Amino acid sequence: MVTLAKLHTFVEKGHRVTVIGPSAHHYYSGMGPGMLGRTYTPEDIRFATRHVVEKRGGTFLLGKAARIQADEKTVVLESGETVSFDVISFNAGSYVPQLNLSEPAQDVYSVKPIERLMEARDRLLELSAQKKISVGILGGGPSAAEIAGNLWQLTSDAEGQIPDIRIFAGKRFMARFSEKVRQKVKNTLVSRGIRIVTNGYVESIDNLRVVLDTGQAHDLDFIFLAMGVRPNPIFSNSNLPTGPDGGLLVNAFLQCDAYPDMFGGGDCIYFQQQPLDKVGVYAVRQNPVLYHNLMARLEGEALQAFDPGGDYLLIFNVGGGKGVLQKKWVTFGGRPAFFIKDYIDRKFMQKFQAIEE
Ligand SMILES: Cc1cc2nc3c(=O)[nH]c(=O)nc-3n(C[C@H](O)[C@H](O)[C@H](O)COP(=O)(O)OP(=O)(O)OC[C@H]3O[C@@H](n4cnc5c(N)ncnc54)[C@H](O)[C@@H]3O)c2cc1C
Repeated sequence: MVTLAKLHTFVEKGHRVTVIGPSAHHYYSGMGPGMLGRTYTPEDIRFATRHVVEKRGGTFLLGKAARIQADEKTVVLESGETVSFDVISFNAGSYVPQLNLSEPAQDVYSVKPIERLMEARDRLLELSAQKKISVGILGGGPSAAEIAGNLWQLTSDAEGQIPDIRIFAGKRFMARFSEKVRQKVKNTLVSRGIRIVTNGYVESIDNLRVVLDTGQAHDLDFIFLAMGVRPNPIFSNSNLPTGPDGGLLVNAFLQCDAYPDMFGGGDCIYFQQQPLDKVGVYAVRQNPVLYHNLMARLEGEALQAFDPGGDYLLIFNVGGGKGVLQKKWVTFGGRPAFFIKDYIDRKFMQKFQAIEE
């Protein structure tokens, strides 16, 4: 985002900038569940990438990178088109693994890409207007919790029936988090009738039937996939150096050691020094370093090292205007927690949306 906002500074120095993305807009995932619950409109949570790039003198290419030919310094798009580069930044994020689904099935939606949550929202409203449906959310982490809470909000506010909502959380819900956070999130969801299933991992999905590794089957009308994320597969598909999770392996300068003109940030990288959680906080903290290093590499100046920093603030939007907040030893829930998240997220978006004008 910082590099996009300052894109004109590259152009002013005589460089050509090409931005490749599958959509003219970039949607902020931190506000995605809130959009599902209709706290936010799609316009509230998106940034006009194409418009900003073109306004600042760059070229926007609508498309998806499929492979990188690092030795030739080209990116091959899914369309077959190739784009050459001198210096590149990868910010292609992550995806949700699809279990055994080979084709996108009807009424099965991943929590990413965020733009598909709009379609999911409309379909859920359509289905729950007809009858009481069963919705399964596969995954036991924060995005499963946020989707469940906001789905409850969406259907409570709409006409029609509130679905039977089940979270399939494997063996333990929100396992990575403190007991206090887990209990607060869990209590809020359970008090709304949301069920958290923790007696087995989902093994397969067939025709909206979810089968656990215990053999237990659940028939559903709608499924969300929220089983954590993996780095974009473009790097492993291109035989580039990757970390154990498949993210582009980068050094302290967010730079690929083997190909020093290649940089990256956010969910798609593996930071050599220490594994980083897949949270927007790190993507945001990397922003100024990436901008600096791209420019420095082009201009022959010194690179800056990225410091991941200490503990970060966590706030989950559990729907119904409530949140759960944790920072170090402080944990609280309810409306104040959501109020803080809403304030931070809106401010973040407004800062970057302001450059659209
Ligand atoms: C439901 C949900 C809620 C979350 N809530 C929070 C939160 O509240 N706070 C927080 O800190 N973190 C949150 N996270 C995590 C956070 O969203 C990510 O860590 C963050 O978005 C990572 O930023 P990024 O720029 O790496 O990737 P993304 O924000 O995912 O952006 C990746 C971009 O790359 C584009 N792209 C994808 N594939 C290609 C390709 N092949 N070629 C070109 N472009 C491509 C995508 O269209 C997208 O625009 C949440 C995640 C999810 C799924």
